[in-house]
Formats: sequence, C-alpha cells, structure tokens
Amino acid sequence: MLKVCNVNCSTGLITINGLSHDLKDFGGRGLIAKIMNTKVDPKCEPLGAENKLIIAGTLLSGTGVPTCNRLSVGGKSPLTETIKESNVGGVAGGMLADHGIRTLIIEDLPKETAWKILRIKANGEVILENGDDVAGNNTYKAVELLKERYGSKIGIMVIGMAGERGYKNSSIQVNDVIIGNPSRAAARGGMGAVMGSKKLKAIVIEPALKKSKPVYKDEVAFEEARRDFIKVLKEYPLTGKEGLQKKGTSIFIDFTGSFGILPVNNFSGKKFERLKEIDSNSFVEAVNRNNGKIGIPCQPGCTIRCSNIYNDKDGNMISSGIEYETIALIGPNCGISDWDTIAKFDHICDDLGVDTMETGASIGVAMDAGKIPWGDKEAALGLVMEMVNGTDFGRIMGAGTKAVGEALKAKRVPTVKGQALAAYDPRNLKGTAVSMCTSAMGADHTTGPTGGAPVDPTKKEGQIELSKERQKGFAFCDNSMCLYAWVVMQKPDNMSIPARLLTAYYGDEWTPERMLRVGAETISLEWDFNKRAGFSSKDDRMPDFFYTEKSEVTGAVFDFSEDELQAVKRLDT
Ligand code: SF4
Repeated sequence: MLKVCNVNCSTGLITINGLSHDLKDFGGRGLIAKIMNTKVDPKCEPLGAENKLIIAGTLLSGTGVPTCNRLSVGGKSPLTETIKESNVGGVAGGMLADHGIRTLIIEDLPKETAWKILRIKANGEVILENGDDVAGNNTYKAVELLKERYGSKIGIMVIGMAGERGYKNSSIQVNDVIIGNPSRAAARGGMGAVMGSKKLKAIVIEPALKKSKPVYKDEVAFEEARRDFIKVLKEYPLTGKEGLQKKGTSIFIDFTGSFGILPVNNFSGKKFERLKEIDSNSFVEAVNRNNGKIGIPCQPGCTIRCSNIYNDKDGNMISSGIEYETIALIGPNCGISDWDTIAKFDHICDDLGVDTMETGASIGVAMDAGKIPWGDKEAALGLVMEMVNGTDFGRIMGAGTKAVGEALKAKRVPTVKGQALAAYDPRNLKGTAVSMCTSAMGADHTTGPTGGAPVDPTKKEGQIELSKERQKGFAFCDNSMCLYAWVVMQKPDNMSIPARLLTAYYGDEWTPERMLRVGAETISLEWDFNKRAGFSSKDDRMPDFFYTEKSEVTGAVFDFSEDELQAVKRLDT
C-alpha cells in the first residue's frame, strides 16, 4: 500500500492512510496540484494555518529506476502567492519510499512555540519530537546535530535560519548521498518559510527496518523497461559519460553564453566578454585543481550524476552541487567570474537555506541600482551575509528580488509573479520565456524549457506550441523523474519506455498520450488554483524592459502579446 501521512501541527495528530484512487495517476507535482485544489483555499495566507506543506514522491519512487526518487515539495508560495512545486534530489525521496510513504502532508499551525522534528522511525512509526536544541542553527550544523541524535544514516529535510525567520526566498535542504551534506535544495518559492511557519525544523527519516517493496504487476517487463531506461540515458550525449557526468550542469554555460541567453549584468542583454573564465572547461579545471569531484550523484542509483564537490586550495570542501542556474545568476548576471566566490555563495545559501537563484537575481538588481558595484565579489558575498545576520537589508533580500527592487526603486527587476527569472534571457530563448510567463509558479526554469528545440529561439514562430508541448511534458516529468532524464525520455523514440515502466508497475495501460494527459491535468489544476487565488492573464507577463530593451547579441526583444501568451493555456489533451 502506498501511504499518505497527514501531520496536524495543531493537534499533533498523525494519521497514515492509503493513497486514494483519485490520486493514483499522479506523483510529485501532480499530487501537489490535486491536493492543493481540493484541500486548500487558494486565497489562504501562505504562512497561515490553512496552507499545507506537501512532500510527494514520484510515480516511480522506490522502484530503483534512476533519478525517480526525487521529491516534490509544494504548497501556496509566500514568495509568489501562487501554487508552488519545488523539486529536489538527495536521499530523502528514496528513504520515504522505503517506508512506503508516497506523500507527507503537514498542516495547520502549532499552538506552542516549541520547534519540532518530524521523525519517521525505522519501524515506520511517525512522531513529532521537540527540536528546540536543533533550531537556531543553519542547515549544516543542524544536520550535524540531527546525525548525532538519530545516527549517520538518516535522510534529512531541514530548514536554516532563513526558514525559521520566514524569508520568502527560503529553501528546504536535503542531504545528498555522497557526503551527506544538506546541499540539495527545494529552493524555489519559499517552501522553507512554510515549513518554518509550522515550527518544523526538520524531517528525519530513519532507514526502514523492513523496506516497503513495490508490488509490480509484471516484474519481468518492469525490469526490461528499467534496463532500456538506463541504456538510453547512457547512450545519450548529455546524460552519458561525456555530458553532465564530465562537466556538471556548467555545460549549459557554453551554450547560453554563446547565444546571448546567459544573463549578464542583471539581464542587460549584453554578451559576457569573459566567457572563457566561466565556461565548463574552466569549471572542470577549477574543480580538479583542488581535488574536487565531478560526476557524482545527488541520490543513490543516478546514472547521470550531474553533481560535484568544489574544494578550496587546501583541499577543504567549499560547496557541493554547484549548478548552472547558480553559476549564471551570481556569476555573469552580477559581472562575476570567480569560481571560489561562486562556490562560497552557493555554500552560504545552502547553509542559510535560501534559493541561490532568487538571491543571485536580487544581487544583480542591487548592483544595477547602484547599491554595490558590478563584479564586486566581496560586496556580493556581503549582501548574502546580511541575510545571514538578519540586518534590515538582509531581511529585504530574504523577501526576494521583487522586494529588493522595490526597496531600491530599481527600474529593471527580472521577476514574473514575484519570482526571479531563471538564468535564460527571455529575448533569446523565447519558448522558455513563454513558459516562464505562463507557468503557474512564476519564472520557473523547469516548467517548460525549450533549449535545443528545432526552432529559432530568438523568433516568435512556433514558440507558443513548443512551450505548450514542453509544459505538458515537463509537468509529467515532475510527476515521475528528474528533468535530465526527461530530456531524453521525451524524445518520440523513447517515450514508450516510461510508459512501459508504469504499465508493468501498476497494471493498467500507460501510453505516451496518457503521460502527457497527466502533465496537462497537472498544469490545468495549477492554473485553476491561481485563478481562484485572484491571478489573471495580466500576471503572465515579462517585466517591461524585456519588451523595450534589445538584446545586444541578437537585437531581439520579447514580443509576445497577452493574447498570444494565453494561447498556451488552450491545451488540447
Ligand atoms: S541527474 Fe543530477 S539532479 Fe538529477 S537525480 Fe541525477 S544527480 Fe540528481
């Protein structure tokens, strides 16, 4: 039985039930969309009693299919006030699946002021324990204390001081598989603050004494499909040995930096002249120089292995899991091309428990508004430390890029629905930009990326249809697997593989069309939630400067009208 565990923070009541029939086609993001639409008032206060924090495993979690033990973390976002799903790797997803738990729903607010730890014990019992001794710490120290108390093999989801203080850019950090650091982040949309509002410092998952084994309808067929899944991942250039495994997601810098897609100086539209200092070769060299590592998994069994460990000159780790979005937004977007600074930034953000993307974009806005100079590494890290120290400006930073823009009266604030843009210039990757405009979540990069599609990314032609297809596909991806696996599985020749996995697992027939219908239903539910929360087509818009300022690289502007963008929402499945 796949379990749904409800935790009421007000009464302390914890109940475990089977996953209901109406939820059986959904995992991760889809489960969040279904539950939010039926159980949460869209107009609720994100940090109030009515909001829920939902943590959901994928349709294939616990099956040993690589990358499928990701977790979706969702609720109503304090940053955007929209529905939110934030996706994270690390060990927690697989460990929850070992307990047979598909979904955790944390609800209501506690009456007491004490911090709590939600503990899933080795025998499957779920209890709330006092966490006051762990609270007041950032995530690395908290993980150390939790391991002392519960043992070194636990899975952990934890908030730092940012989540405790209710920062709207706060994340929930998850420990990774190789060193066990809280380096994996459910970063976007302030889910850390939602967890903090419920006075939940951490969720601790002890290794299950008796692992819950998936019950396959056809185990032989499942194993065959699983082998095919791994085979095509290994054969595909990006997900095979020579791709992400060799260079991490820094590989995307080479592409975006060459085509005017990489954001430079707060999305100025300029070309980054020092690309060689920040490209993937330079990343590999910087990691290897101090005996760091590239090509490591964030969770057990991942064959793509896009993660990394970055050391200082003495061989001590500065950070791990440094990703493209972080590199781009604190790097060229702030005029910075120094790997040590980027690694330090990444670590401080992970430790405090904030979104590196929102923070990098906020610093770009602060530089553009003249608060600190372009490219000033120390000043950039100084602003992050203001968040750590909870200064007045640090708290504004913690409220996100839009708040920073308002405080500094900035003219160029790259946000959609209050969330900072991912690291893709909308003028030169228009399909992804259409997705970022129309996504229910604000400017999320994972909702419908279109890079590599056979259309001119600087032209309007074909982008609406492309975004629509990608949004459906990537919504299904967030029900089932990591997006890097989906990049391969979405190809027409490969889509039958996840369909075969699901058919062999659950017994009823899955087809690529059914997978896309699940994706379409997921995003329709999200749009519906937002509509009832008060959002309209007026909110599906890029900031004005993208419509008026030309990209210096291509001469393009973002040029979609409100009506054109709304065509994305006419789904035909
Ligand atoms: S591809 Fe990267 S992010 Fe995805 S599961 Fe594997 S290591 Fe984690």
